Amino acid sequence: MRKLALTFALCLAVCSSGVAADKLELLIVDGQNNHQWQKTTPILKAFLEQTGRFRVDVATSPPKKSQPDAWKTFRPQFAKYDVVLSNYNGEPWPEEVQKNLEQYVAGGGGLVIVHAANNAFPGWPEWNKMIGLGWRNAKYGPRVTVNDDGDTVRTEAGEGPGAGHGPQHEFSIVIRDRGHAVMDGIPAEWMHFKDELYHGQRGPAQNMHILATAYSDPAKRGTGAHEPMVWWIPYGEGRVFTNVMGHADYSMHCVGFQTVTARGAEWVATGEVTLPVPKNFPSAGKTSTQEP
Ligand code: ZN
Repeated sequence: MRKLALTFALCLAVCSSGVAADKLELLIVDGQNNHQWQKTTPILKAFLEQTGRFRVDVATSPPKKSQPDAWKTFRPQFAKYDVVLSNYNGEPWPEEVQKNLEQYVAGGGGLVIVHAANNAFPGWPEWNKMIGLGWRNAKYGPRVTVNDDGDTVRTEAGEGPGAGHGPQHEFSIVIRDRGHAVMDGIPAEWMHFKDELYHGQRGPAQNMHILATAYSDPAKRGTGAHEPMVWWIPYGEGRVFTNVMGHADYSMHCVGFQTVTARGAEWVATGEVTLPVPKNFPSAGKTSTQEP
């Protein structure tokens, strides 16, 4: 009788979670950033949850210049999640947290990097392998761009510009791998809302799969190259998806930004994309925004 009751209780617990069982568990990490993470994390959380595909938790680090003791309780439980999204750009995490993330991704976990999250951790070699390119100076490592013929061009360390961006503006996103699940059904070219156009990003740049680029216009203090905007990198059994768009709340209101980030998160978590491309997705020459 006791066993029966226990089985019944277990079934209740599992069955009552119903829809939640289909949801992917996503963890946003924030707490330090040279950007307004207090504004952008709620936007990320809102549009991810509105897809119906994610349940989102947030792990917030201690603020800058905290006493070492404050960091002792910052132990994000990466292993509990299907996907981790970094909205963090600040002091190095404790070594234990770094190792945990490495093991999590190497073991098949999904990691998503948004905008300045790729500025973080220049001194963490495994992180740099995961992101491929980061906000670093020209001497740090190679740079990868795409030329007018669509060929990938590698520039060696010390040659060409380091990380930077011109004034914020609206710019066109060109999809470079339309066969990729994340980009399937997305217009070949579409207009992103006001944002910084990152250029000259540097890193080990190994195993990069470039999914989208933007032309960095010299008239906007750009490089004259097609700079990578969205890419992914395999790391062990896991996948790392980087989207360098998303400077501010208004940049994240771009329907294109939201769609690509959500689909990228689903893809690194499962290897598949079920999230649709919304009808109000931006088109060539026309932005589309929504506050989630
Ligand atoms: Zn920025």
